[in-house]
Amino acid sequence: MFTLENSDLRLTLSARGTLDELTCRATGTNHIARPGMELWRIILQDEESLVNLVAPGNQPCAAARAGEALVLTVPRMAYAFHGEMREVEVALRLSVRLEGDTARWTAEVENADPAIRVMEVWAPMLNGLRPPADWALYYPRDCGLRLADPVTNLGDRGQMFRFGVSNAHLRELYPGKAAMQWMGLYSEDEGLYVCSEDDSLQTTCLNAERTVGDAPADDTLFLTFIKYPGQRLGGWTSAPVAVSAHAGDWHAGAKRYRAWAETWITPPAPPEWVRRMPGLQDVILREQYGKLVYGYEEIPALHDAAAEVGIDLIKISGWHTAGHDNAFPDWEADPAQGGRAALMAQIAKARARGAKLMLYLQAVQMSRNSQFFAAHGERVAMRDPYGDELADVFNWPGPSTFIPLSSQHRLVCACLSTLEWQEIIKYRTRYALELGADCVYLDRLAGYPGYLCFSEDHPHDRPCDAYADRVKLGMDCRALVKAKSPEIAIASEYINDAGLQPFDFTIPFGFGVHHGGHNFGELFRYTFPEYIITTQYLNGAEYERLRFALVMGFRFFFAITWQHEPISSTPPAFRAYAKSLIDLLQAHADPFLTGKFVDTEGFTCANPALFAKAYRSEGRYGIAVWNPTEDAQGLAIAAEGREVTWMGPEGAIRDALPAQGVAVGTILP
Ligand SMILES: [Zn+2]
Repeated sequence: MFTLENSDLRLTLSARGTLDELTCRATGTNHIARPGMELWRIILQDEESLVNLVAPGNQPCAAARAGEALVLTVPRMAYAFHGEMREVEVALRLSVRLEGDTARWTAEVENADPAIRVMEVWAPMLNGLRPPADWALYYPRDCGLRLADPVTNLGDRGQMFRFGVSNAHLRELYPGKAAMQWMGLYSEDEGLYVCSEDDSLQTTCLNAERTVGDAPADDTLFLTFIKYPGQRLGGWTSAPVAVSAHAGDWHAGAKRYRAWAETWITPPAPPEWVRRMPGLQDVILREQYGKLVYGYEEIPALHDAAAEVGIDLIKISGWHTAGHDNAFPDWEADPAQGGRAALMAQIAKARARGAKLMLYLQAVQMSRNSQFFAAHGERVAMRDPYGDELADVFNWPGPSTFIPLSSQHRLVCACLSTLEWQEIIKYRTRYALELGADCVYLDRLAGYPGYLCFSEDHPHDRPCDAYADRVKLGMDCRALVKAKSPEIAIASEYINDAGLQPFDFTIPFGFGVHHGGHNFGELFRYTFPEYIITTQYLNGAEYERLRFALVMGFRFFFAITWQHEPISSTPPAFRAYAKSLIDLLQAHADPFLTGKFVDTEGFTCANPALFAKAYRSEGRYGIAVWNPTEDAQGLAIAAEGREVTWMGPEGAIRDALPAQGVAVGTILP
């Protein structure tokens, strides 16, 4: 048995290479409830199979102390092959050292077998965890996910017995739907933080998994980062994996991650009008199925509809001949409507009435029915491990049944490392600028999909490096936009800490942007409060989602009836309500729009029925609050002894918040 120990942490590795103790000395908690479990796992590809699992049980290994580190060495590996064990010249060296309350792990793999490709490395696996029922798993899917009592709630035991183990994990790729490279298990007082300290943007899986025992009392969890070296002959070394057992709740974990992220991630400085933007309206001119819904001459009126509720930014999709999501990237202004000159004239007319115009462009996917695809699609397409093109398959909502039941709208994923794709996206960005856009929207460029690309013809060396040029392409497009004017904005879709650096704001999808359930948008908002995020689609008169968004600081994204209608199609009472919330926000833009989201810092709330979040700027502090119940609730919020002045959409509020009421509270500087 080998032990590393300092004043913060004690870690024990067994002679056979299992992690048997990880104790936080400040709290006395040993996080390893079940010692002796698997610490690593490797997937090898050979000439016959893409997937050969190597697990530690059958492998020779040696643990030893090397200076201040502990090192586990597996000199060669074996896996089942044609009924026997096949030995291969692949070695693993897994080392760990303590730095304060953090154990830093590094994995090195040496492959000397020409028949073998190292596809996956799971190391270290923080295994045998069994946090008490009042702990939660914090996982960075999209804006954030919080799973209470994860030993019980991660996957469905009954379903697992029927279908195997498929449902017992949370598993997403970074950069992609995993928005950050950390996760953790936390109580209100302490926790376990894990972070892949990897600034290479290589595709990495964040895996949180439940190991099912014979009875529920035997179930445990493990947390691991999975790397995809794609290594043939030669050596590969992982970036460090930081494992911290520390006092403090999840906020302490977020601060740790933020401190590391600041060594390589820089959020952008958006124009002032974006910082103060209460929301936007999205309308598709020509829809996916081909129908022209609004002509160019209606663009000024679409802005007028948004302006009625206090919104100036309108997102225009489907402004080209092919219809939204079709024939990209061939998009040109529609000659039947007067072409480019007619579109520019209507954009200019709307702008003269106070509009800001955002033009939609796809940025990571191409249509099979485009001329670009005919010329370049085969080469540019991302490839899966079988050599097939990767595609996003979906159907847009609508009245028909024959389309959703008998079609698959396919957008083929482009590999962003290819020069052809980089050039066409920059060309389209310039085209949108020439049309007079106040904001260029590059769909999905900030995040999803984060696939591995197995093409052997692309500039990236390994499948896991296909994402890295994405941020560079975003920054190149940002430079084009800002060279025309720093007042012009650039925006995208999805949430990712590194992927959002080129963008002044983003439209999200997925977890964390809704209220209730496992949604926990606080995770990303608190870690990266500078990034400006909208709501997901507001499809109609969704009062509760507006109230939630006001408290969380998500700007209102009106995409009424699947982006087919302007806000004027909603009931007058809803429009009046939306306007009253926007007026409230704009009257208190500092700190609620231009300040930083600080979650619950600086106040205490004695009424658990209320949902409240705080904002801080250089000179101001404020609290936004929503009463999501159907009864009036006492405003039992105390801000460190300072007097809070509460204002609702209908005026001053004193002691109680009415049912479904919202208010912003400010404190004099
Ligand atoms: Zn590729």
